[in-house]
Amino acid sequence: MKLSLVVPCYNEQDNVRAFYDAAVNAFLGCGYEYELVMVNDGSRDNTGIELKKLFYEKREETPITIVQFSRNFGKEAAILAGMKHAKGDLVTLIDADLQQRPEIVREMVQILDEHPEYDCVAAFQKERNEGRGLSFFKREFYRLINQMSEVEFVNGASDFRTCRRKMVDAILSMPEYHRFSKGIFSWVGFDTYYIPYVAEERHAGKTKWSFWKLFKYAVEGIIGYSTAPLKIATVLGSFTSLLAVIYFIVVVLQRLICGVDVPGYATIVALILLIGGIQLLILGIMGEYIARMYIQGKQRPIFIEKDVLTNEDEV
Ligand code: UDP
Ligand code: MG
Repeated sequence: MKLSLVVPCYNEQDNVRAFYDAAVNAFLGCGYEYELVMVNDGSRDNTGIELKKLFYEKREETPITIVQFSRNFGKEAAILAGMKHAKGDLVTLIDADLQQRPEIVREMVQILDEHPEYDCVAAFQKERNEGRGLSFFKREFYRLINQMSEVEFVNGASDFRTCRRKMVDAILSMPEYHRFSKGIFSWVGFDTYYIPYVAEERHAGKTKWSFWKLFKYAVEGIIGYSTAPLKIATVLGSFTSLLAVIYFIVVVLQRLICGVDVPGYATIVALILLIGGIQLLILGIMGEYIARMYIQGKQRPIFIEKDVLTNEDEV
């Protein structure tokens, strides 16, 4: 098997068939074997039924594997499950909503065939058709995370990529519960070739990303790939202690030398608020790390498969 397309699907009932058709079209006459691994990430609509129908209709034509999750575990978990079931020497991660055209995958495969020195081809979005606010937020996020973290993140690079088997195996060997693909891809290393692409409009349905979800995702990236926020505590703590000492000396000198009465409670209230705030912030940051240790410590599986459909003769 040359190529596996891993497709996470969450509430994509109107897209799965269109995706299948587009993929088959794109690979017409490509001259190599490929399979589809479609993961139903606990959809609330009829995605599961549509996938099953697709499987029984098309299993003779194209090898398909359908993985059904027991509930929604998130795109990262769906990608991981898909990679686990993928049998190809090359594995592509692609969305089900046809925002990423399957024709590009064919280009990716060609690039990998021509350049044995690269282990992965990733597509990045040159221009995004999204609001100014969101694009500012994303740009700042990348600046921040690149400064703090030991791995490099490329702005605009999506999960849309094709990797060689050795890179896939490296990714599968990472057991972390809180998965942040962009971090995982750059953490495992390997040489990545970047190609620009323009995202299409969604075929049907709507995006699952709200601003709040994106924010949580950003925190995941920062906490997961950097311990720099923990150092804020040390820096802020030392700084405020120093200020407190200086202030104390000033007050004592004022009293002894100039005979000034120490002014009222306003400063005290202000200081309590300031220091209380800083302490809460730092406790919160530490809590984020501790919570992740706690959940990782329970060693729960990253996803649970309800059932798996696959072509027996292929296995
Ligand atoms: N997805 C998923 N689980 C989720 C959310 C999304 O498997 O909990 C899938 C979704 O079906 C799609 C892909 O991840 O194939 C990208 O999602 P979406 O199109 O909503 O993101 P966007 O393209 O807007 O960034
Ligand atoms: Mg999309």
